Amino acid sequence: MSIRFKLAWTFILLLIFGITAISSYSILFIRNYLLSVGEIQIQNDTEWLSITLQNLQYDDTFETNLNEAARTSGYRLAVYDEDGALFAFVPYHEISDAPEYLSAVLQNQLTGGDKLILDNRSDSDRLITYTILTTDLNPARYLQVSQFKDEIYAPIKTIRWIIYTGMFISMGLVILVSVLFARYISRPILQLEQSARKIAAGDVDQTLNLNRNDEFGTLADSLNSMASRLRADSEEMKKLYEKQSQFFADITHELRNPLHTIAGSLEMLEMKDLPEHQKDHYVRTAMKQTERINRLFKDLVTLQRYDSDTYFIEQSVFNLPGVIIPVFEMYYPRAKEKGIEIETDTDEVWVKGDPDKIEQIIDNLVSNAVKYTNDGRIEIRYKKKGKFVEISVSDTGIGISDEHLDRLFDRFYRTDKARSRDKGGTGLGLSVVKSILSAHDSDIKIRSKAGEGSTFSFQLPAEPVPAK
Ligand code: ADP
Repeated sequence: MSIRFKLAWTFILLLIFGITAISSYSILFIRNYLLSVGEIQIQNDTEWLSITLQNLQYDDTFETNLNEAARTSGYRLAVYDEDGALFAFVPYHEISDAPEYLSAVLQNQLTGGDKLILDNRSDSDRLITYTILTTDLNPARYLQVSQFKDEIYAPIKTIRWIIYTGMFISMGLVILVSVLFARYISRPILQLEQSARKIAAGDVDQTLNLNRNDEFGTLADSLNSMASRLRADSEEMKKLYEKQSQFFADITHELRNPLHTIAGSLEMLEMKDLPEHQKDHYVRTAMKQTERINRLFKDLVTLQRYDSDTYFIEQSVFNLPGVIIPVFEMYYPRAKEKGIEIETDTDEVWVKGDPDKIEQIIDNLVSNAVKYTNDGRIEIRYKKKGKFVEISVSDTGIGISDEHLDRLFDRFYRTDKARSRDKGGTGLGLSVVKSILSAHDSDIKIRSKAGEGSTFSFQLPAEPVPAK
């Protein structure tokens, strides 16, 4: 059953129940009101009927006058003599309704002082009064006046019809209004439901415009912002997917080259009469490529760990030269070999970070500086800047032109693929640097000009020199 029907039925049933309850209560109230008015009326009428009866002569006219009194009053009258025996009843044809003797209890009550007794038991179909008569003109001693309750309730018949007609007209209106109201209420729900269903099915280009300022309007706005979020997410996912595909294609490509070279070298080594110096050459070539694959996997593992675990770093307070000098010493011979000057600061400066990972950053930056510098100098510097220490590695190498700067930290991105591979580069070094720094809430900055050299710099929180 649709929500529209459920709503309509709920309204209809509730309102019909309400209308019926109000109508029944009204009828009950009117009945009680009429009965209480009837009780007062019968008691007043009994008084004047008793006076009339006391003044009747007991002759031929007695019966006629009694009939006249009953007719004009509309009551049934029963007259009892001193012994409580019935001796007159009008209208006569209903005489069987009157007891032949008035009960002793009632007689005693009336002679004992009660001038008028009202019998209004709810299980009785009549209202009855009894009164005592004091007259010498006729033998009448007790008078019973009675009226059927149905006669009292008679006006209800007309009122009931008015109420029932009103009730049916109201119900008709209620059904009409309920159906219209249910439609008004359920329309936005149906629209919302349809939109939600489409969004769930992947159609996120949905915009729902209900033009309402109530909760449905708010819900539609929420649905719209959910759809636009999903849209953004799906764009993001698409990009991520493309990036991932590119990443795997790059890895495959990166592995294919060294594997080919290794396979080629092994084939050459299989040749029986290969001169000794050529054997050496192919063994070194194969080993160099194996080292490259090894480095590639090491970088990939590092990156993968940063992607999945931000708590990968273990921060401590350490002295910067403690991590810079070993790197400096490691690259010093290679730089000298290439005829490049290499310098470093050595002052005691303390910072907060993961010393091993910071050493890895310096290693990657200095390694690149040595790789991409043919002559000139390399400087490893650090200085305090407010609450931070800025560390920089600059060179007078080949530099990087502006168009590459945006993508330089993307995985496997190189400005010159052939030259990078040739120098044993994996294309992951700067990505690793960026990941490590972002785990330290820091970032890498680059200033570079093609042909003039590059400066890579980053900051770490400065720490006071610990007391010795
Ligand atoms: P690679 O293993 O190729 O060196 P990196 O991620 O370390 O990979 O560097 C990415 C690219 O950035 C390099 O291929 C190179 O083109 C460029 N690059 C990095 N450092 C320097 C530098 N000091 N001077 C000039 N180019 C650089």
